[in-house]
Amino acid sequence: MTRLAEAGRDHYRTRMPRWLYHPVLAGSDLREVETLLEDLRLNTVCRSAKCPNRMECFSRRTATFMILGGICTRNCAFCGVPKGVPQPLDPEEPERVARAAAALKLSHVVVTSVTRDDLPDGGASHFAATAQQLRERLPGATIELLVPDFRGDAEALMLVLEERPEVLNHNLETVKELYSRVRPGADYRRSLRLLELARTYDPGVRTKSGVMVGLGETREQLRRLFRDLAAVGCDMLTIGQYLRPGREQLEVERFLSPEEFAELKEEAEEAGIPAVASAPLVRSSYRARELMENKGKEGRKVVDRESDQGGRKC
Ligand code: SF4
Repeated sequence: MTRLAEAGRDHYRTRMPRWLYHPVLAGSDLREVETLLEDLRLNTVCRSAKCPNRMECFSRRTATFMILGGICTRNCAFCGVPKGVPQPLDPEEPERVARAAAALKLSHVVVTSVTRDDLPDGGASHFAATAQQLRERLPGATIELLVPDFRGDAEALMLVLEERPEVLNHNLETVKELYSRVRPGADYRRSLRLLELARTYDPGVRTKSGVMVGLGETREQLRRLFRDLAAVGCDMLTIGQYLRPGREQLEVERFLSPEEFAELKEEAEEAGIPAVASAPLVRSSYRARELMENKGKEGRKVVDRESDQGGRKC
């Protein structure tokens, strides 16, 4: 059964252009994934952030697990994830994530989190524990960790990189000039520095970032962001249309056309970012495996994780 999603309106009833209509897939796989996540009491950013692709991804039996609870300590103005006083850490969550990933037979597992500024290491040890559990249960799978900025704590980042993820992802989300309005509590330079440090500590890791457009940024500001990411050796970039998840979040300033997304892809690649996914419904972990396997930088093969000890500096 397919039907057009909400007849062209985003979650806050903003009329959307035709290219944001997309068929909503419903079927056994979708229900099975949703039941599995409920049974294992797991959060996904897919549902928390009301991702427009979740039906498609669940139907393709993929999901992006969100660890460290469902409540964030930050207050980004574009984000639909609940904010407030977070729950205590659940020590069994890493094992449950690995069980879900194994049940879904995932070949590429993406794990993200809310930001936990209340934790001494920002949740880095919980990320590490989750990666360890995934390696045990799914030794052949590749792992992508979409991390918060750990308030710039290099030790926390190293703790995560010790687990040798194939992809270390950290979103810039928007251009520097919009940080105070869109992403208060975050720091553009600090986020760039995290991506740069990741490459320094572990030259074999592929780094990735993501931005939303349609929040009032200019093309020149985006070009500078592309140059900044290329300068820190970022291997992959996702560019997608911002959609308003609810009345508390920022209004959409503009819907960019598919042609503009194609231009942005070209400009980002010309700036030196090897692999770019750019389209209205692209999200940070949307079709993450495909982007990782894109013609971009040849990263670490799963098989030689052990033999590659020499390259790592952490
Ligand atoms: S850090 Fe910002 S984007 Fe991430 S979950 Fe928290 S509020 Fe949302």
